[in-house]
Amino acid sequence: MNVESLLQQLGQLHFLAQFLIFSLENISLLLIAVLIGKLIEPKNTVLSRQDQKWVISTLICNILITVLGFELYQLEIIKIDFSHNIISIILDTLLLVILMDFFMFCFHYLAHTLKWFHPIHKLHHTHVDTNVYSLFVLHPVETFGFGFIWLILISIFPFNYISLIIYLFLNLMYGIFGHIEKDLFPAFWYKSYFTKWISTTKFHSDHHKNQAHNFGFYFTFWDKIFKTMI
Ligand SMILES: [Zn+2]
Ligand SMILES: [Zn+2]
Repeated sequence: MNVESLLQQLGQLHFLAQFLIFSLENISLLLIAVLIGKLIEPKNTVLSRQDQKWVISTLICNILITVLGFELYQLEIIKIDFSHNIISIILDTLLLVILMDFFMFCFHYLAHTLKWFHPIHKLHHTHVDTNVYSLFVLHPVETFGFGFIWLILISIFPFNYISLIIYLFLNLMYGIFGHIEKDLFPAFWYKSYFTKWISTTKFHSDHHKNQAHNFGFYFTFWDKIFKTMI
């Protein structure tokens, strides 16, 4: 069974069944993140009482964004390329990762500079020493902001479905490895011309410790270009 017909079948289900499936999907992603955190740094992967409500609210926001995305797909506002052309998969993946990082860099920069936005983003920065749960300690305004950037971008370009899957996987992994405390990136990563433009655990961890720098997520070059890198 291919993905396109799977989505078609999903579209024929009752809205509540769709909602349940997208809820299970997002709960699974949260559990995978926590599991990775627990495996890598069990002592640091602790959910504090005051963060519980934020983790749950971010989970609900992510479910709503997924539901909205599927509605937009059914309305053909979001179009997906289901071909298996390897060139388009590679180009779409690169385009997605680079564009998403640029728009999220801008959004994140605004979160630190706009008067109304900074108090909202401050919630994420209550975690100076981060753990995997920090990824989910976000104000709903911010979660919807990131979600809308994603939905608008994939409404404009019909990306390949494999690129969308690769991007979502990389996004989750970067969210996890950007917030765990243990830096698993090898020492050469920071020096080699081939790797130093790709973000690391230390790169985002440094942002949590010094909020005037490192606004990018997947790459270091936006901060280099805009002179905001530590
Ligand atoms: Zn963070
Ligand atoms: Zn920030």
